[in-house]
Amino acid sequence: MMKLSEVSEYSGFEIIKNIRPVRNTRIHIKPEGKIVVVGKNAELIQQFLDAKSKWITNKVNQIKSISNKHNLPENKIPFFGKFYNMGNFKKMNVSDLRKTFRDTLKVNAEAYLSQTTKSKIKVRVWAMKRKLGSFSRRKNEMHLSVYLAFLPKHLVEYVIFHEYAHTLERSHNKKFYRIIEMRFPFRKALDLELRKWWLLKDKILRKYDFSKSI
Ligand SMILES: [Zn+2]
Repeated sequence: MMKLSEVSEYSGFEIIKNIRPVRNTRIHIKPEGKIVVVGKNAELIQQFLDAKSKWITNKVNQIKSISNKHNLPENKIPFFGKFYNMGNFKKMNVSDLRKTFRDTLKVNAEAYLSQTTKSKIKVRVWAMKRKLGSFSRRKNEMHLSVYLAFLPKHLVEYVIFHEYAHTLERSHNKKFYRIIEMRFPFRKALDLELRKWWLLKDKILRKYDFSKSI
């Protein structure tokens, strides 16, 4: 087996070693083909890369197969899963564009929640690039990423239900997934679909200077 520490590139993915005074060595694989490792020193980073080589290989192959399958049609942007010409969005001014994305997502989320629970959950939309959503129990408030507005409605609802389920069960344990499966019996298929769309979102943000407007 080839040791990862001997290369600065892995299966077409560039390895970026970032030495910083962090407590734990960590890794992040970006869908555009970069492996970023953060660690206290070069030696620790190398040990980490060697120990994780199998995991990295799997992850890299997964990302490659997903991004090959899910291409972004030229000059098109998805809005709730349907692709529209980029020109339609370019014509809008920033406040209309924001309204279209944020408000539509918020209205949809609130409507879905009102069918799901009697509890008055507040919905707030943020430009979160990594997280799809989160739930604040203290404020009884759901936070959603504005980029969910790219995704098909059933996936948006799946994410909202996930966050809602945290009002019933805090951690991702068996009980939590039983709650999810009562509403979404094929959750594994949805997870896969969600991952593809979330990677597509990264492609959109890389390709179009769009994120500041929404
Ligand atoms: Zn969760």
